[in-house]
Amino acid sequence: MATETRPQRFATAAIHAGAAPDPATGARAQPIYFTNGFVFESTEQAADIFAMRRTGFSYSRGSNPTVAALERRVAALEGAASAVAVSSGQSALLLILMTLMKSGDAYVVSPRLFGGSLGLINRLDGRYDMKAQFAKGLDPADFEAAITPRTKAIVCESIVNPCATVMDIAGIAEVARRHKLPLIVDNTLASPALIRPIEHGADIVMHSTSKFLGGSGQTIGGVICDAGRFDWAAQPDRYNLVAEPWEDYDGLVVTERFPDFSFAVACRLFGLRELGPGLSPMNAFLTLTGIETLPLRMARHCANAKAVAGFLRDHPAVEWVSYPALPGQAGEALATRYVPEGPGSIFTFALKGGEAAAKRFIMSLKLISHLVNIGEIKSLAIHPATTTHRQLLPHEKAAALVGPETVRLSIGLENAEDLIADIEQALAQAE
Ligand SMILES: *Cc1c(COP(=O)(O)O)cnc(C)c1O
Repeated sequence: MATETRPQRFATAAIHAGAAPDPATGARAQPIYFTNGFVFESTEQAADIFAMRRTGFSYSRGSNPTVAALERRVAALEGAASAVAVSSGQSALLLILMTLMKSGDAYVVSPRLFGGSLGLINRLDGRYDMKAQFAKGLDPADFEAAITPRTKAIVCESIVNPCATVMDIAGIAEVARRHKLPLIVDNTLASPALIRPIEHGADIVMHSTSKFLGGSGQTIGGVICDAGRFDWAAQPDRYNLVAEPWEDYDGLVVTERFPDFSFAVACRLFGLRELGPGLSPMNAFLTLTGIETLPLRMARHCANAKAVAGFLRDHPAVEWVSYPALPGQAGEALATRYVPEGPGSIFTFALKGGEAAAKRFIMSLKLISHLVNIGEIKSLAIHPATTTHRQLLPHEKAAALVGPETVRLSIGLENAEDLIADIEQALAQAE
């Protein structure tokens, strides 16, 4: 078979990158390697793999062939040098923060973040003294103002859950570069089909694959992508797990042995071998299958969301809609610049009738499901103030634009007319 050398375009990579027909059997679909251990060829090989002197499979907590195919696929789509798959989006953020920092360190955080991320960030601050330095606003200058000598990283989302705000990733990356800090972008709501943060200067990109990448709401997972560009070795004492010797690994210096993707290797060694939240091969398989249709799905998700958001904006029972692809919205210029196809399909709106109307609306939906996932084929609704954003402090809820009157929608791939009809009848019930 001739080898394809031309770089694959996005839709092709979504189907082919990182996987090939199984050399052992010819199986065209990615085989699911349900095995914990892999037989070593020799005691020398076993020792070398354990010492990271050579790569290879040993035990599925740290790496597995099915999971590796998913890692290669997501890395290709994000334009990353390497990726590490983990058991959830939550563990992706946890592993990134734990690998970069130790107690006493600090990092700058966007004030507008997914509720689960805020919960984790606040708990790590309170219990482990990993200090979250919240930017006062969404502008790159607000992120810059929050930086102190203790700061080790900057964290933001590409498109914010739940309000669909599109962040100025290139502007924030410029701040990060000026201060020699890695920029971490949670790209869950955009998926690489809409935004590839590495192209805008991000150093680390994470996903909850439970959302658009898996696509069907069947499986929880996460991925950490390493752009391979950040110069960890220039500040070894600040990023010691990545750039200083690991004494228990015969003095291994990750940046020296793996200069092209050292953060991913440090995450795998510490995050997977030691902390342990690896992804199941079954979940990796389901996620790979989902990714095959990602570009098609994202185009339809965006078109449907825009139709529904436009309908809501013009409805007399609706106070406001937060979907920056609509003309005149706050953040419209950033949305136009970063996501011409549309800022995904997760957004919020508020009812004039307040909390009671918001809850009646949700309970009156028939086609749209009342549940707490996002980014799946089916359309979903939730009341964030009493669920996903419940643990947030009042000022955090305000920053996330989550009030008692707010409803979050995740628009799926049904016919837009059917979705609008369901929303119309539920709005009539809610008044
Ligand atoms: C859902 C979500 C997470 C957490 O992912 P899980 O897979 O549910 O653990 C993190 N970030 C964002 C933006 C999310 O939407």
